[in-house]
Amino acid sequence: MKRTLLVVLGLVLLGTAGTASAPLSEKNVILVTFDGLRPKEFFDHDLLPHFWDEIVPTGVLYGREGVYTNYRIASKIAISEPSYQAIYVGHATDCPNNGCPRVSEETFTERAVRELGIPKQKVAVIASWDGLADAAEHIPGSIFVNAGLKPLDDGSGDPVLADLNQRQAQDPPQWGARKDIYTFAQGMRYLDRYRPRYLAIHFDDTDEWGHLKQFDNYRAATHQYDAMLTELFAKLDSMDDYGRQTYVFISTDHSRGWGPFWYTHAWTGFSEKGVYLFVRPPRSAGVASQHVKNEKRDHSWLRPTFETLLGLPVTGDAAERILPEIF
Ligand SMILES: [Zn+2]
Repeated sequence: MKRTLLVVLGLVLLGTAGTASAPLSEKNVILVTFDGLRPKEFFDHDLLPHFWDEIVPTGVLYGREGVYTNYRIASKIAISEPSYQAIYVGHATDCPNNGCPRVSEETFTERAVRELGIPKQKVAVIASWDGLADAAEHIPGSIFVNAGLKPLDDGSGDPVLADLNQRQAQDPPQWGARKDIYTFAQGMRYLDRYRPRYLAIHFDDTDEWGHLKQFDNYRAATHQYDAMLTELFAKLDSMDDYGRQTYVFISTDHSRGWGPFWYTHAWTGFSEKGVYLFVRPPRSAGVASQHVKNEKRDHSWLRPTFETLLGLPVTGDAAERILPEIF
């Protein structure tokens, strides 16, 4: 649906009924990222069967299987921290590796809390890997962040969160992070309790199995996301008005090498920057499903797109990078 038409329609509806859908500027955004999951596995319908059969036909897909995809990451190098920082600030930073300092400028998540005047609990980043804490905010405590094996403490004493905190501590992975099953469960509980304007669930398992050169486990980790995505979309469908106003974005921070180099990333400088993006607009947006294969897009389009959906004005060059296909 054309944006102008939607705005006009929204005004008409708002004028006649209290339950009308909110204008475009009051949408919620959920971002799910896999870590180091190649297009080769993402586009494998056997690994993500429900996602490909039931979810993809309801949204907009960017990129394609293979090296020459039109959707790319925005960082200078295909490594997690540089890529996540580029997502949160909207352009490549100088971060060269996972050891770099925290982002040094305001992120879109921080801007959302500041300019929308909403409680920071309404803007949440829940991540398996603690490096996300250095990408999502330049001043710690500006938004709600729970990353790595840290217990998720929202100050509520919620027994479900407390139980998850206990279980994740007793069941750590063999790498220094949190297992994705707990990150997902925490995220779902958080979604239920806070109905955030922005919620990110950042996974990690696939990249870790990759570095361990365990191909079967890498594929099994990919397959486990199918059930999680199914649960997420079912959850949104059950959340009435909130679900009807929520966009879901699904992508990865980087790809991996080709052929025998599948286990590593960052050094070929080309294939590992080619990724994909799937966007599921709420049905109320009336967006036509499509596969965008040729137009060049990359992660630097996410920030201005998210800001527009959240109701933050976007000006200058960034206004040229609002994904047109999802409105
Ligand atoms: Zn990695």
